[in-house]
Amino acid sequence: MNLVLFGPPGAGKGTQASRLCGELGISQVATGDIFRKNLKEGTELGTLARSYMNRGKLVPDDVVWKLVEDRLSQPDCAEGVLLDGFPRTVTQAEFMLEWFERMGRDKPRLVSLEVPDDELIARLSGRRTCLNCGATYHVAHNPPRTGGACDACGSEVVQREDDTEDRVRLRLATYHAQTAPVVAFFLGHGLVDTVDGTGDIDAITDRIRAVLR
Ligand SMILES: [Zn+2]
Repeated sequence: MNLVLFGPPGAGKGTQASRLCGELGISQVATGDIFRKNLKEGTELGTLARSYMNRGKLVPDDVVWKLVEDRLSQPDCAEGVLLDGFPRTVTQAEFMLEWFERMGRDKPRLVSLEVPDDELIARLSGRRTCLNCGATYHVAHNPPRTGGACDACGSEVVQREDDTEDRVRLRLATYHAQTAPVVAFFLGHGLVDTVDGTGDIDAITDRIRAVLR
C-alpha cells in the first residue's frame, strides 16, 4: 500500500502519519527527514540542495524528486510507503506517478486532510515550542503546566517566528496557490480520498482508516 498524507500546514499530517505507519506496516517517508539526513551526511544531492538554500532559493522540483526517489528505492519502502510533506507541487507529483508506473508499483492514493483556514490559524498561531527539546504546546488546549517553561526540560517555551499569525497566513496562501493543485492532479487520476481533519485526533485516525478499507 502506498499513500500520500496530504493537507495544509497545521492539519496534523505528521501526527497521523506516525500513528498509521506502525499499524499498516509501511514506511513513513517525510521530506523533512530526507533533507536533514542528506544535508547532515553531505551527500551529492544534499550538497546540491544546500547550494540553492544558501542562495535563499527554493530547491528545484527535480532535485527534491531525486532526493525522494533515492529514499523510495531503499528496501524498507518495498512493502509500501506513507509520504508526508511530498509532493508539494504538481511537477513533483508528475515525477512521482511516472516513477511508480515505471517501477510497476501501485500508484499512491492521496488522503487529503481538510481543515478550514480559521482553525489552522488558531492551531498554528497558538502553538508554542520549547527552544531546547522541540516539545510543542498550545496556549489554549495544551499550555505548559508552569506557564512559560517546558514540562519536559524546563527550558523557555516561545512562539516560533513561523507561527506568528502573519506568517501563518502567508504559509496558507502559498499552500493554496502552489500545493493545493496537487489534489486536483491526483483527482484527475482517480486517486483521492477526502477526510475531515477537524476534531479529536483519534476520530481523525478512525476516519482515515475507514477510507483505506
Ligand atoms: Zn523542552
